[in-house]
Amino acid sequence: TEWTPGDGWHDARITAYGPLSLDPATAVLHYAQEIFEGMKAYRHADGSVWTFRPFENAERMVRSSARLALPQLPAEDFVHAVDSLVAVDERWVPSLGEDSLYLRPFMFASEAFLGVRPSQHVTFMVIASPAGAYFKGGIKPLSLWLTEEYTRAGRGGMGAAKTGGNYASSLVAQQEAIAHGCDQVVFLDSAEGRYVEELGGMNMYFLYADGRIVTPETGTILEGITRSAIIELAQKLGHPVEERKFSIEEWREGIRSGEITEVFACGTAAVVTPVGRLEWDGGSVEGRSEPGELTMALRQQLVDIQFGRADDTFGWMHRVL
Ligand code: PMP
Repeated sequence: TEWTPGDGWHDARITAYGPLSLDPATAVLHYAQEIFEGMKAYRHADGSVWTFRPFENAERMVRSSARLALPQLPAEDFVHAVDSLVAVDERWVPSLGEDSLYLRPFMFASEAFLGVRPSQHVTFMVIASPAGAYFKGGIKPLSLWLTEEYTRAGRGGMGAAKTGGNYASSLVAQQEAIAHGCDQVVFLDSAEGRYVEELGGMNMYFLYADGRIVTPETGTILEGITRSAIIELAQKLGHPVEERKFSIEEWREGIRSGEITEVFACGTAAVVTPVGRLEWDGGSVEGRSEPGELTMALRQQLVDIQFGRADDTFGWMHRVL
């Protein structure tokens, strides 16, 4: 669908997948005025098709649009667009194991104009692609690289928005992580370089021996849809959850002293993944070599709700077909 100041959102349609034709002066290509979402459609054993908390994605996109000077897309229109695409051909929703249909709604500045100001023509689209399970051949703890050179977001920046620029700025840090033999990069806050923010595409949790869980507070991180689901599930299991600043020293010390018993991360792609070794320039702490018990229990509960094998007591699932 397209947006212009005069007509608002208009011209919604479903077309065959194919390349876009863009004017070389299209604003998004130069100034990255763009936002997106990531979500999945899951097939249940009875053949029905569901998405997970799609109104949360819709509302996050509204918050992202406010930060990027893009127009608001009403939540109902967002969910309707996603549902309509899935319904075009439901055979694209896999029915094997933990396979799903990945959905990518996105909005970009589509006006051809070289001046720096909000685009007066905006396009919203949804594309889809079948997605396999994140872990092939068993769930293994991720090794993480702590980048001290690069940060992802600062106060007043775009960290809480799901916008391409954040991912552009994370690429060299992720390359650095891989060059050091690690799976993913950990970002710290940009003001003090002390507080854990998130991974390139996941939010983080730390379980203490006394049962409490700490997760970095929101503000400059992306508020994961999975993040808040994990908080609710953990609380239901009797774990107090503290959302607060969490320093890298607390992490290192907690592992060394054994006070932190599990570290895990979560996001739409991996659901929940255990975290093991943490490495940085000049040192490392080992962490667990096997997935922790709570990590796996939370993962299982969430996957079971998403695939309809457990009761959706939180009302998270939205039926598409
Ligand atoms: N942080 C970042 C930077 C991400 O890209 C993602 C993935 N969207 C997440 C956290 C997790 O968010 P969600 O649970 O909504 O997938």
